[in-house]
Formats: sequence, structure tokens, C-alpha cells
Amino acid sequence: GDDETKGKNHAFVYIASKDYAWIPATLLDTDKGKAHVEVPHYKDEQSIVCDGGASASKKTKEWVDLKKYPNKVLPLQNVTGGGQLIEYPDMVDIPFLHEAGILFNLKLRHLRGRPYTRTGDIIIAINPFQWFTELYTEKKQIMYSNRLVWESTHTEQDPRRGLEPHVYEASALVYRGLAFDREDQSILVSGESGAGKTETVKICMNHIASVQKGRDIKSGGEIDPVVRRVLNSNPLLEAFGNAKTTRNDNSSRFGKYTQLQFHRPEDEMAGSIDLANTICKLAGSKCEAYLLEKNRVTGHEDVERTYHIFYQILAAPDAEKTKLWDGLKGTDFNSYKYVGDTDTKKIEGMTDAQHFEKTRETLELIHLGGDKYTMLMRAILVVMQTGNLTFGPREGDSDKSDCTSKKELKGLAELMGVPEDALNKAFTERTMKTRGETYKVPQDAKTAKESADAFAKEVYGKLFLWLVSGINEATKAEKNFEGGGLASSDFGIIGLLDIFGFESFLINRFEQLCINYANEKLQQKFTEDIFRSVQAEYIEEGIALAEITYDDNTDVLDLIEGRTGLCALLNEECVRPKGSDEAFVNKALAQNKKSPCIVVNHMDRMSFGIHHYAGKVMYSAEFFVVRNQDTLPTDVEELMQISTNEIVSHVAVDNEPAKAKPGRQKSNIVGKTIWTKYKTQLATLMTDLRKTTSRYIRCIKPNKPKKPSVMEHVGTVEQLRCAGVVAAVTITRSAFPNRLDHAPAYRRFLPLKPAAAGKADKNDIKALLAELMDSALASLVQGEGENTKKAYVIGKTKIYFRAGAMEYLESERLKGC
Ligand code: ADP
Ligand code: MG
Repeated sequence: GDDETKGKNHAFVYIASKDYAWIPATLLDTDKGKAHVEVPHYKDEQSIVCDGGASASKKTKEWVDLKKYPNKVLPLQNVTGGGQLIEYPDMVDIPFLHEAGILFNLKLRHLRGRPYTRTGDIIIAINPFQWFTELYTEKKQIMYSNRLVWESTHTEQDPRRGLEPHVYEASALVYRGLAFDREDQSILVSGESGAGKTETVKICMNHIASVQKGRDIKSGGEIDPVVRRVLNSNPLLEAFGNAKTTRNDNSSRFGKYTQLQFHRPEDEMAGSIDLANTICKLAGSKCEAYLLEKNRVTGHEDVERTYHIFYQILAAPDAEKTKLWDGLKGTDFNSYKYVGDTDTKKIEGMTDAQHFEKTRETLELIHLGGDKYTMLMRAILVVMQTGNLTFGPREGDSDKSDCTSKKELKGLAELMGVPEDALNKAFTERTMKTRGETYKVPQDAKTAKESADAFAKEVYGKLFLWLVSGINEATKAEKNFEGGGLASSDFGIIGLLDIFGFESFLINRFEQLCINYANEKLQQKFTEDIFRSVQAEYIEEGIALAEITYDDNTDVLDLIEGRTGLCALLNEECVRPKGSDEAFVNKALAQNKKSPCIVVNHMDRMSFGIHHYAGKVMYSAEFFVVRNQDTLPTDVEELMQISTNEIVSHVAVDNEPAKAKPGRQKSNIVGKTIWTKYKTQLATLMTDLRKTTSRYIRCIKPNKPKKPSVMEHVGTVEQLRCAGVVAAVTITRSAFPNRLDHAPAYRRFLPLKPAAAGKADKNDIKALLAELMDSALASLVQGEGENTKKAYVIGKTKIYFRAGAMEYLESERLKGC
């Protein structure tokens, strides 16, 4: 009622804003459920700071109806007398923690050159778009390893206390968990494109590789060959799986889960803190790739590029090029339609020619030199050359077509080691099989071109998987000792996940659904983990487990992956002879009417929406069926099998999900859809992750133009929501929204101490605090006798406040000032 709102008499607040998400403002007065707020106006978003309005160009006053808009005005966290924000390295310590508080704390730190902030166990990494080299020195690495691993007593509560937040704390702590707690670990990195996921994973991986050197490491010296292979495999994979996009010059176009494998010292040593015997040594790695964007192979936006490797090959020295294939002589990116013009001179500070040299060296290092190198490069040339094929109608019969680029066809035939004629036919004819009869149907020029494109994408997909398995072969952990017969489970695992974050564009397609599905799966684990950590904290503090509430996302997951969910229906549509996108939407809507997460679009029958945990996304169902089928014409498939290039002719068996029952055509096709493979892959990932203790790093892209020291409010808040940061804070605070350590709480609210107090033991902070709070919060006690519910609970190190209590105390304190 009125009393409640009157109580919220804070001097400083945040007020919701359409353009800037939140603006710090001054609360002048509250009256009858309305708040009178003075809102400062700043010249631009950058200059919006918490300074009590001192730097504002003008100020306006407005009344906010708090009954109608209860969340429009939020209390501002601790400020100095002049209204300047106090910076918090760990946001758990912010007295009023909510979206606005998170935003402004992050902004303040970002502008001060501190990209990392924690909120409990989650690290939020704001992409600085400038390299703070002093953050990543060897000295820093050693400092974090020593403080968190080698010099920590392993019994203290939180060894991070007093340490500036850093991703090195995640890498040090996973190592510590592996070596001392003997549990497999993982670091899950998420964020939108360009947010810094891939860099973060590399930074962590480098650090993990260095922690194992122990506390007395000297810099320099030989790099362990295993470590070198593992670390170098990153840029190699990037050459083939990354491309320049509008959002990121070095954008990974696939998801990646890398398991670092460690030799563990003998198990008898478990529990002993004998450091020499605790050191786990990196023994190898294994990586799994998800959903490579194959469409980029055959086309990309003008300002973007296709995969780096194409430009690298074309920038190679002429001698190298002609050695690979003499058709390459004198060509550049303009010679190949799939590649095309680019004005990008450098990626990550190196020219394409320099990158090529590095790629070649690394391939050699991981035993993919010599013939294997030639085979791989030639497979890429097959892809490039295919893009230059043209097709035209046969004279007098436009239903039939022929390849009209004889020279290019000849070149491709040469590269693949197949007859020219067979090549032409594979694209321009289709073999049809009916009962007992086989016959050829001619294809028109457009269809022939589509077949060629599909072929190119398939070859690229194959060579990428071939490379991944080559890397895995070269980096996999060797047995610890001769004849030991160690299974992979005998290694300690630190998993690093670098996967595309939640996506919501103007038009969302099948690929976005797949990506958002993965994010739902990860979000589910994330909330479970947060929930568990809050419970663990209450147990640690010795207080009764209180009601922790949170939104779980099983409804969305059911809608997507359930038995009659969207994807099962899509798979069905893909095996129906005349399956169509529209029929899929109709069935999807009809059979999921009851789902609270489905959104019907009455304006467009080819569209549907999903309420994801991060918000509503509308999908366009156009091409869902073909994209999910992802099939090649049989003629093209057969052509590939006769190629002399073993990467091209290789029939993939790994990665194939549960064996389809022989003789049953239907399950066979379903078994091959993108969805089925992807779902199986994700299920494996989740099983693997559930065996590990996870740490979370949430990467945020603070502004779209990729500028240093700029934070766009709306975009940042949106990402915080998508990353589940706001939800995590909500879970953490659902039972007790605010908490403080004993001593600071006592000091802060001492002015409210009743004159009559003084019975409590002066040396017992808990007793003093209880005495103080019992009187200060007496009016907020609910229930009577047995059912009394006080507005606070005192734990071993902290005091926890229920909703409203802290606000009440603050306003009382301010009144007294
Ligand atoms: P993502 O993998 O999330 O798409 P990247 O890791 O490729 O994003 O990062 C995009 C770009 O942002 C990098 O190329 C780099 O220029 C910059 N960047 C990322 N992390 C950092 C960092 N810690 N310090 C400075 N710049 C960074
Ligand atoms: Mg990336």
C-alpha cells in the first residue's frame, strides 16, 4: 500500500528509459503510491553517468505511478554523498542488485579499463576492443595460479577474496578443481558474435597450459610439444572455420567443445597436498565441432568474406601455388566466384600470406604435411573450382543442360581425378529409381548449378571434419606408461565450450532455431547450477533452506525437442514425399496448441514464434525442410566416391547417430537429417558437461561499431538477459534479495540502534547485529508465535534480508542523516 512506497525514500534511483534502458535519477518525494523523480538529461548516451546529475545539461521532473509501473523506478546502489557510483568488482556485494545496477557497474568498470567483473561464480567479460597487454602478462598468469592454486590453503572459503576478477581465475580454479578436488571441470563461454568468446577460450587455454608448471616456474625454456600442438590447433581450425563478417573480422562459423586431457598423478596421492605429486600435466586434447555454416562456402555478403583459408591459399607464393596445382598460377581471389573481391588486408594483424605460412607449418606440426597437406589443399581447390562452373540450356531444349565452362570443367575433373564426362553428367542428370527400373532425368541449367553448389558445400563440410579428426588424432593424449591400457576416462578433463550465443534477427531461420535450441539446453544446466550454488551457500552459512524460485525452461525444450515437438514434426515432414514448409508450420501449430511457449502468427502462415528464456523469437519456416534434409543428389554422391582425392571420396561414418535399422527407408532419412545429428551431438555434449563442474564466462559486446570505451545501454542489457545474468541474479536473490557481511552491516545501520540497547556481548558481532535488527526491523515481522517470520536471517558470515527489509533500513538511515 501507500506506506510501502512511502518507505522507499531513497535519494538516488534508476528510472527506466526507452532509449537508454536506465538513467540514474534523483527521487524527490513519494506520495500516494507515486514517485516524484528528477531526471537529468545528458548530451549523449556515453555521458550518462552516476554523478547526481552534476554533468547534466538540464533536468526535468516527472511523477511515476508505482502501482502501474512497479519496476520503472529502482533503488540505486551505494553512492557517495554526491551521487557518484561506487564500483564493485563482485556484484554480489552491491546492496541493491538488479538489471540497472548491473548495467551501471559494468559500464563504470568498462570505462575504467576493467573488462572483467564477477557476480558470484559467473564472470562477465566486456569486450574492450583494445588490448590491455598488462592484463595478460606472464606475471599476471603466475599471480593467479599461485594465489588460487599453489599457495592457497584449499580450506579457505573463497580464495578469490581481494583478487581482481579475471578470466584467469576461471582457468586457475578449474585446474585447482581437477588437481585437488579430483573432479572433471568445464568452462562454458557464451555471448553473441563478436563478444569475445573465442579469444576468451584461447586466453584461458594458454593459462591452463601454464598453471601446470607449478609455482616455481621460470619463463622461457622449451615448450612442451604436447602443449604446443594443442595450442596451435586453435589458429589452424580458425583458418578453416572462421570468416570475416560484419560483426567480427575473425568470426567462428561453428561451435566448438574442446576437452583438455590431463594425466593425473597416481590415485593413492588423492587428498594429499604434496604439491609435487598434485601437478596434473596436459596430455592432449579432443575437440568436437558443431554446425559449421556451410552456406558461406557458396555465397556471402559483399562486405563479408568466405572462410580465411581461401584467401590464404590465393595469397601464397606463386611457386607454392603451382606446386599444388598449375591451374592456380596467376590467380587471385577475383578469379574465383565463391571467393570474390576483398579489401581486407589483415586479419588479427597478419596478412593472408603470413597466415598461410602459419597454416602450412601447423599442418606439418600435427602430421598433416606432405601428401596429406596436398590432398587437403586440393580439396579446397575442388570447392573453389566448382564455383566457376557455368551451365546453359541445350540447344532447342531448355529442360536439358550442359556445363558451358569447358576449361573449368576440365580443371575440376583433373583436381578430382574423375572423367570430365562423368562430372558433367553428375550435375546435369538425375538417376531415378522405380520398381526394377532405373532411368536418367535431365536437369535444367538452374538445377544443375544448384547441384554443383550443394556439392561444393558438401566437400567443404567433409574437409572440415577431416581436419578436425586430423587435429584430434595429433593432439589426443597418449598413454601414461607402456602397455598401461588407459581408457580416455582415465584422464582428467577440463572442457572449454565456445558456442554461438542466443540469436534473434529480423528474419530467423532453421539455423537460428538450432542455435537457440543449444542455448536453451545450456540455460537449463546454468539455472540448475545457480540453484545448487545458492543452496550450497545457505548450507555453508548454516541457515535454513528458503524458498528459491526460478523459471525453468522445460516447456520450451519440450516444444522444440519433445515427442510431438517442432523438430520431430519437421523430421516427419522431411520424409513425407511431398513434405513442405507450410505443412510443417500447420502441423507444428496444431499439435502444440497447448504449449505456453508457442506463438502463432496470424499474418503469415509460413511463420511461427517461440518464447525462449531470452525472449520471443519469430522464425520463418521457409527452407526448413530442405535445410534439415541437407541431402545431395545420388548422382553427385556417387561422383564423389570415385574421386581420387580421399577427402572427397571419404564416406563419413563417424558422427553418424544411432544406426538406422536396415531396410527401413524412413528411419534412414530421419537418421541423416541435420536435426537428428545435431540433437545427438548436443545430447552427448550435455552428458559430458554434466559430469563436470562448470564455471561460466559471459561475454558481452558493449557496442556494435566495435569501439573501445563505449557502452550502448540497450544492447548490453539485452545481452545480459540473453546470457541469463539477470535471471541468475534473480534466482540468487529470490529468497533474500539482499545480503551483507556482519561487520559492514552493523556499521552501516548503527545509527538505528535503540538507546536502550546494550545487552549483547560487545565481542559477539552476531549478537550485536541481532539486537540491532530486532529493534530496527520490528515493524516488518510477519506472523506470530511459532510462525514468526523475521525480515532477516543471520548466517555464519552474512546477514540476509527479505524483500523490502534493506530498502526500509536504508530509508530509515537516510531520514536520520
Ligand atoms: P566471438 O568468438 O565471440 O565471436 P572473438 O573472440 O572472435 O568473438 O572476438 C572478436 C574480436 O574482439 C577479436 O578479434 C578482438 O579484436 C576483440 N577481442 C576479443 N576479446 C578481447 C580481449 N580480451 N581484449 C581485447 N580485444 C578482444
Ligand atoms: Mg568465435
